[in-house]
Amino acid sequence: MDLARVRKRCEEQIGRLRIRVPLDVAALCQELAGQRGRPIHLLALSSRTSSPSGLWVAAKKADYIFYDESAGETHRAHIILHELGHLVFAHSGVQELDDLTARLLAPNLDPRVVRQLLCRDSYDNVVEQEAELFATLVFMRAGFQVVGAVASDVVDESGVLARLKAVLSA
Ligand SMILES: [Zn+2]
Repeated sequence: MDLARVRKRCEEQIGRLRIRVPLDVAALCQELAGQRGRPIHLLALSSRTSSPSGLWVAAKKADYIFYDESAGETHRAHIILHELGHLVFAHSGVQELDDLTARLLAPNLDPRVVRQLLCRDSYDNVVEQEAELFATLVFMRAGFQVVGAVASDVVDESGVLARLKAVLSA
């Protein structure tokens, strides 16, 4: 993947958004929702895992971004921005939603039903990097110092993290 090109794609998307300082992720979601003509709902989940993360669900009439409520404020913002990255790039792929997540999303429904309803994608590495770079660039616009914390929740295979940092400092 050409990271410089990905960065350009990210910058184009971010250029359409008004990034406030201090960063207001909820306001950003609202603006994006207005542009897309589809509401974006932010919903807290308690996954009780050691690595809090997020989930974007594109439902018929709205987008839902779930975030782990155990994440601290900054981490939470990053999780939501990462999911927004998936959303603005319209990432999609093969359906893969595990039973645990399905139960978290809808405790009263059979996970099979939830899967049918939600059609959650399982993302490959490239789209993960795109989403992560989007989140990181928004963070930088909002004045956060990004030094060593880039892509902390992304599996760092084949030096992805190092390459991300190299692109960011270019
Ligand atoms: Zn992701």
